[in-house]
Amino acid sequence: MFPNLSETLSVSRIGREILLIRVEIGIRKGLPNFQILGLASQNTKESRDRLRLAIESAGFIFPFATIIVNLYPNHKPKKVSFFDLAITLGILEASGQWQNPFPQRILALGSVSLSGRIHASEELLELLWASPKTRETIFLIPSELRERHLPEANYIYLSSLEEIKEIDWLPEIITFPPLEETEPESTWDKEILNPSQMLAFSGLCYSLLGRHHALMVGNPGTGKTKLAQLVSQMQPSWQPSDLNLDEGIPLSARYCLNGKVKPRPFRQPHHTTTEQALVGGGSSLTLGEVSLAHGGILFLDELTLFREKAIESLREPMEAGKIEHARVLTRETLPADCTVIAALNPCPCGNYLGIKTCHCSKKQIRDYLRKISGPFLDRISIHIHLFNQNESRTVEVVREDYRRKLNEAMDFRMARLVEERKREVFSSPAERMNGGFEKSLLRFSYRQKQNTMQLARTIADFNLSSTVKEQHLLEAYEFVQNSLFFEDLN
Ligand SMILES: [Zn+2]
Repeated sequence: MFPNLSETLSVSRIGREILLIRVEIGIRKGLPNFQILGLASQNTKESRDRLRLAIESAGFIFPFATIIVNLYPNHKPKKVSFFDLAITLGILEASGQWQNPFPQRILALGSVSLSGRIHASEELLELLWASPKTRETIFLIPSELRERHLPEANYIYLSSLEEIKEIDWLPEIITFPPLEETEPESTWDKEILNPSQMLAFSGLCYSLLGRHHALMVGNPGTGKTKLAQLVSQMQPSWQPSDLNLDEGIPLSARYCLNGKVKPRPFRQPHHTTTEQALVGGGSSLTLGEVSLAHGGILFLDELTLFREKAIESLREPMEAGKIEHARVLTRETLPADCTVIAALNPCPCGNYLGIKTCHCSKKQIRDYLRKISGPFLDRISIHIHLFNQNESRTVEVVREDYRRKLNEAMDFRMARLVEERKREVFSSPAERMNGGFEKSLLRFSYRQKQNTMQLARTIADFNLSSTVKEQHLLEAYEFVQNSLFFEDLN
């Protein structure tokens, strides 16, 4: 009976959109011809020659007929796709060499080599995670993915086309155990800090706990970069709610090859980085550093060397935890909830306010800091000062102790937030302020007051305290007050 038709499902990605594709195959008598319709990628078009050989190597017959492959919906370009396996199954089914033995529909994803081997790739795995999953579908995937962390679904693993002849075993329903996180690589266990560095270190710990952005202003050699590196290895473990795979972060950015979750990211772009590299966008909507640092730290060393436009582009993600990009017809939102930690010298020579002599004039310093705008500074709660002074005392910090403390504090904070949401009672530290403290806030803008309150709440969480105490407010006040450094220059 001609023409013979078959239909298999597969998946394709255009930009960030995931499309379920119907791979329709029609075979009819006629001159040998193999056509693929429906805006296939170059790689899919090339599969015509590849599959002919692969099907024969696997011991099947490649039909001597006219074969039409239609990728539905036809009008959408199939930029990223792995249709080889789906097309092969369709050809075998339409030519009567194979029949789907299951009541469910089959969704196939896989590349096929000339010898008929079936292969996977990181991109394929990402498509698999993004595919719509129902009990009504059986996924046919490369057996290379057997050891990988996969979403819950019905799977049949294949290593070569030959195994198609034997597909009658029941699919494995895979439910994976909770995600396991790899330990962050550590280059330090203990570190000796002076009192100013210790204060900075605490500030950065609060920054990690409450996602407060931090800015370190200090003379060269006071340990700004070192401190950022230290806290990069102290980031708390992921909370389950952080690991939402549908949010658009590529799997490879989030998972190791063994399927374990990577620790929270630490990104340190160079100061020559463009605005687009920092926040993403462009015609193919690439992820910027802010998105790659989602859930972790974006460290900007020597902030004054960055381009003004690049610094300004951070305002939206710093405020909203995401970034919107205008597309031709729509707007796309990418996640960008990272903690920005920036560092800079206080003046062109670097010695301002330190023990060495600074010869810069007020005007030179103002010009030097001009790129750091008011709105940018408003988004920073933790202002850290590291100026050279004679400090002989030292403190030892042990990484493991602080990481454990941070994890406990994070659990405490999350539980508090859940509880508050349930009771719809939100702790408002502002009500607990006493009159004397209000006076010391006189110079603060509304925004600086808000920052102080929010930071005080985080410091309370760090100390596992359900109420915000005066000592927490005072500590928060010190960090926010340092921001007046910029105003005092004017
Ligand atoms: Zn100077």
